[in-house]
Amino acid sequence: MKEARFYEELEGEKVKCRLCPWNCQISERERGVCGVRENREGKLYSLSYDNLKSGTTDPIEKKPLFNFAPGTRTYSICTPGCNWKCKYCQNWQLSQGSLNGKSVSPEEIVEAAKNSGARGISYTYTEPAIFYELAYETAKLAKEEGLYNTFVTNGYINPQPIKEIGPHLDAVTVDFKGSGDEEFLKEFAGVPSVDPVYTAIKEYRDQGVHVEITDLIVPRVGDSEAKIEQLVNWVRNNLGAGTPLHFLRFYPANEVQELPPTDVSKLEAAREIAESAGMEYVYLGNVRRNNDTRCPSCGNKVVNRSAGRLMELDLKDGRCAQCWEEVGLAGLEWVEGKRP
Ligand code: SF4
Repeated sequence: MKEARFYEELEGEKVKCRLCPWNCQISERERGVCGVRENREGKLYSLSYDNLKSGTTDPIEKKPLFNFAPGTRTYSICTPGCNWKCKYCQNWQLSQGSLNGKSVSPEEIVEAAKNSGARGISYTYTEPAIFYELAYETAKLAKEEGLYNTFVTNGYINPQPIKEIGPHLDAVTVDFKGSGDEEFLKEFAGVPSVDPVYTAIKEYRDQGVHVEITDLIVPRVGDSEAKIEQLVNWVRNNLGAGTPLHFLRFYPANEVQELPPTDVSKLEAAREIAESAGMEYVYLGNVRRNNDTRCPSCGNKVVNRSAGRLMELDLKDGRCAQCWEEVGLAGLEWVEGKRP
């Protein structure tokens, strides 16, 4: 347990948490919506700080991050808790699970990451905002040790916490569901408004963090082509056509068992919408696709993948080896043979 950051003390031993857009007002011995920040005698504490639930290495492509440090492995950590309550959550045993993780210090996490051969650390599986204090201290230390840091997030976090962790973050995957359709998110995730997510994405971008966007296409309830087009246009107009977009296939999970997996033709249609709008890096996730990265200028496969995993890079000094144009790849300094 650690005293939380980003809160105000109020009268009557109440506190107001300012970490995420819920801005919960919490009474003595109560917790916020995330279930892991508790008021004790008028002070707010993070209960997730010493509750690590996972520490394993994954390919960076699994986050998914396809235009960042391709082919590297990343040490992936999380704690229980989440500020969204997605009925279809694939990781619900973690995100809605009890606080029975291990107490592991930031120093031990960084040491374990280095010993695992990973090039960086990903704060993932559950929402990293709700274990901010642990993520912040670990990310700061990891950066000093030459590792990268990436968040896999729903984007539901206030701007000030992003400003403070931004200098230690290298990449972020922001996960949309149902293309950010508010009706869908209200019903299936209990989220009142998606506006703070757009604000957060722009803040990450302003902090110089590499941003990739995913969109979980949920059949029947979250697969509107009009909403996909709306999201694509927002990304293109606000972040640029070079922002990687991933359309993800839904599989039944948690409380949503009655819907089928997304038809792959729906994902192909989403890709068509994005490419027609000029998006340069569009990938399909949770399906068997190679998902190569092509040079937007000449079409050369600059990152050749098989089943989503890196096989070969065709780059010269970080540019397309064929036409010498810049390609939108970040984090190449962590790719094999180029360790900082
Ligand atoms: S982090 Fe948790 S306690 Fe704080 S505002 Fe968000 S949901 Fe509420």
